[in-house]
Amino acid sequence: TRWPRDWSSDVCSSDLQVMTEQFGNPSSVHKMGIEASGIVETARRHVAAILNAEPSEITFTSCGTEATNTAIFGACRRRGQGKHIITTAIEHAATLNTVHKLEQEGFEVTYLQPDADGHISVSDLREAIRPDTVLLTCMLANNEVGTVLPVKEFGKILKKKAPKALFHIDAVQGLARLPIKPKLWNADFISVSGHKIGAPKGIGALYIKKGTRIAPLMYGGGQERGLRSGTENVAGIVGLGEAIRYADENMEKNMAYVKGLRDRLIEGVLKIPYTHLTGDPVNRLPGTASFVFEAIEGEGLILRLDNAGVCGSTGSACSTGSLDPSHVLMAIGLPHEIAHGSKHKKLGEQNTEEDVDYLIEKITYVVKTLRDMSPVWDEMISGQPMLKMFDNK
Ligand code: PLP
Repeated sequence: TRWPRDWSSDVCSSDLQVMTEQFGNPSSVHKMGIEASGIVETARRHVAAILNAEPSEITFTSCGTEATNTAIFGACRRRGQGKHIITTAIEHAATLNTVHKLEQEGFEVTYLQPDADGHISVSDLREAIRPDTVLLTCMLANNEVGTVLPVKEFGKILKKKAPKALFHIDAVQGLARLPIKPKLWNADFISVSGHKIGAPKGIGALYIKKGTRIAPLMYGGGQERGLRSGTENVAGIVGLGEAIRYADENMEKNMAYVKGLRDRLIEGVLKIPYTHLTGDPVNRLPGTASFVFEAIEGEGLILRLDNAGVCGSTGSACSTGSLDPSHVLMAIGLPHEIAHGSKHKKLGEQNTEEDVDYLIEKITYVVKTLRDMSPVWDEMISGQPMLKMFDNK
């Protein structure tokens, strides 16, 4: 390869090119290093554009979890601030386990509880805010049931009642699916992750509102304006930038298409008896369909569907192989045995109507097969559905 090349232009670069041709370290002062730095800055502009932010407000991290840890620890360990955190019971483990850690260090945490559709109430938040509240951390949309949270109202109330408290939004599921508006939402931090939108796994980013001063999680060479030391994952960063650039240009068209697929899937799957949609039926992520099937073990369902070439999840795909029922489904009030029989499916613009019809056919078949083998099902079909909460859905 001849140097220099026009790596910093907006049109070139892919993560593969970076791994096979452009080996520069963005911190190096030679030409190849300066070019690598140009590539990183191009990607930063793409991330900033989709987050409606300035490039200087974007810090690259190794994943969504690191972005969230940086925001939560950073906000809570500011000197002279209070010791009260507000979050919700339906957060991803990246948030819940981080606030648990702070609880062990002496912070008090209020966990706002969802209703049966996964909504978190604005008035519950209003009541929870205290003069010593230091942070509100919540998701934009839930990764399991897909319900979108009212972050704009949350931000408004937080800043009115506790002006010094900071607001972190985990937008990992919302990236490139919902518009992201930090200023309108009064957000101080927004976490995103690459692998939800087709970028490589192991890359994330954190929006930090201009002027917000926090301590970093990692100390070292001072990369990322001192907020995230360590040599940058240039290939991952370029992959994230390019995935975002593509998604941003096509978001409206793609999401309208994906919504159509999701609704087709929901309509087809709900024809299976004793099957229920979880999450808000309307105000939900465009590509997320989530169900519970009475008298079914979620793991059996997932394994059999896997054999048929269908990938789905029971709990969070990002929590390693746990067989416990989902904390989200338990929080929305499902009994333990029903929460076990869950499945959620994420659809993307690469899916087709044929994929969805295949999925409906396989789910219908596998649910029937599993129920035919289940003693619980025999008892059920002679009686009532176990789930009173879904009676009128
Ligand atoms: N937050 C939510 C809502 C997620 O769905 C995930 C993972 O999918 C994460 C955080 C963690 O992101 P990462 O796997 O990049 O650490």
